[in-house]
Amino acid sequence: MAGEPQPDCLFCKIVSGEIPATIVRETETTVAFRDINPQAPTHVLVIPRVHHPDAAALAAAEPGIAADILREAGQVAADEKIVDTGYRVVFNTGAGAGQTVFHAHAHVLGGRGLQWPPG
Ligand code: AMP
Repeated sequence: MAGEPQPDCLFCKIVSGEIPATIVRETETTVAFRDINPQAPTHVLVIPRVHHPDAAALAAAEPGIAADILREAGQVAADEKIVDTGYRVVFNTGAGAGQTVFHAHAHVLGGRGLQWPPG
């Protein structure tokens, strides 16, 4: 069923505590933790506790939680003190765009200059 934990999902296992992560923030609906392979001095992932395969599916099914993800991304940026220098919130969607974990997540990247367009 949509939103239910998936047995083979890495991020569902981080939500349940089965796989450890460096958690920086938690709410009733979201978990934020440091990316294991950081691409910038700040690289934090913000995920919903519920399982949806990507951000669009999450927003369609549970728009309030999609809004929670965006708010938490902003809170991470504030906590990491990267608001003034600028930061990026990225939702890779689909394998062709680099998505490798099919549990919705926002990347919060900052702490260095970020080029546009992205690669
Ligand atoms: P994406 O490629 O957009 O699906 O992003 C998935 C991200 O999850 C990548 O940046 C990975 O480095 C990150 N990642 C994979 N496994 C872990 C883990 N165990 N803990 C933290 N981050 C992870």
